[in-house]
Amino acid sequence: MAIAPERLVGSDLMDIYRKVESGERLNHEDGLLLYRTPNLTGVGYLANIVRERRHGAKTYYVRNQHINYTNICNKFCKFCSFYAKKGGPAPYEMDMAEVKRRLDWHKDIPITEVHMVGGINPRLKYDYYLDLVRLVAQSRPEGVHVKAFTAVEIVQIAQMGKVTIEQALRDLMDAGLDSLPGGGIEILSDRVHQELFGKKLNGEEWKEVARISAKLGLPQYATMLYGHIETDEERVDHLIQIRELQDETAHFLTMTPLSFHPEATELENISQPTADTDLRNIAVSRLLLDNFDHIKSFWIMNTVPVTQMALWYGADDADGLVHEYEITYKDGEFGNKSQALTHENMVRMIEEVGRIPVERDSFYNEIVREEPVAAGRTLKPLTVV
Ligand code: SF4
Repeated sequence: MAIAPERLVGSDLMDIYRKVESGERLNHEDGLLLYRTPNLTGVGYLANIVRERRHGAKTYYVRNQHINYTNICNKFCKFCSFYAKKGGPAPYEMDMAEVKRRLDWHKDIPITEVHMVGGINPRLKYDYYLDLVRLVAQSRPEGVHVKAFTAVEIVQIAQMGKVTIEQALRDLMDAGLDSLPGGGIEILSDRVHQELFGKKLNGEEWKEVARISAKLGLPQYATMLYGHIETDEERVDHLIQIRELQDETAHFLTMTPLSFHPEATELENISQPTADTDLRNIAVSRLLLDNFDHIKSFWIMNTVPVTQMALWYGADDADGLVHEYEITYKDGEFGNKSQALTHENMVRMIEEVGRIPVERDSFYNEIVREEPVAAGRTLKPLTVV
């Protein structure tokens, strides 16, 4: 017997339900209602309709490695616990030998993507960045996707080389850069920019980097950092501005809502977002971003259990195995920063909640390997190692 939609989404969300069913674009007011209704399961149900329409039960993941090449930074963002400061993380800067050492750590794992971001370190010259990209791009005989540098870093690199942003991107692409990660703007709001990260580029400058990247055929990922001082209106504004930019450029691959971690930041007095907030941001992103194929739940920031739930709240991507992620660590020291899921545990995380794990490359092409994890296998307890 069919269940009436009102029972599933609630009467307050029925207008949005009808829009979702007919594929009509949601507007600003719809976004605000989705953020403000107490009916989170209704929001999740709507997001799941879109998620399953696009991807069925498939959930994508990538075999990746993160390298955070320096934590020296002159931008002093209030939400950041990563950059080196007195009483905080000790400064570090990786030379090529150190980067190579880290790449070698995982030589036995068929990693397909290396994700690199770092602080804005004025000591690093233009050639450092080109060498860094070249080293990573050539580190595996079978090739590896180099996803590196937020828009803030791109502006810094161009300044260090005394070249235009376009020329810097061309040079980086020649060296082996394959895509730009999200980040760099956090949320497209002049108010939040002024209050939390005034030394970084502003929204218009961030969009300019995105437009140049699109013009050069360089794909980019998008993010939204939530759970600090932003309002519901600012979240909706951010998502709609990103949607408009995607209408124009069509070069964004994925949206990743990022859950703010206040510990060891200047915003330590703010409570960390709850699972409710994490799930809502994923669901609303799925519903508003009708021109994005993929919504990612970054398990490092919103935990494995929340990511499992998120796969029913609009997310179709669980990110990757990740290794050595430094950004949300309290001490941020240059040492053992292992945050990784084994491949088996990634598969298990997805299967445990009734979804189908699909390994992908950075462009969402499916990767089929000769020895998939056999069904019915015995797995170790699901832990982050
Ligand atoms: Fe620097 Fe990035 Fe941290 Fe801002 S968020 S202080 S730019 S490392």
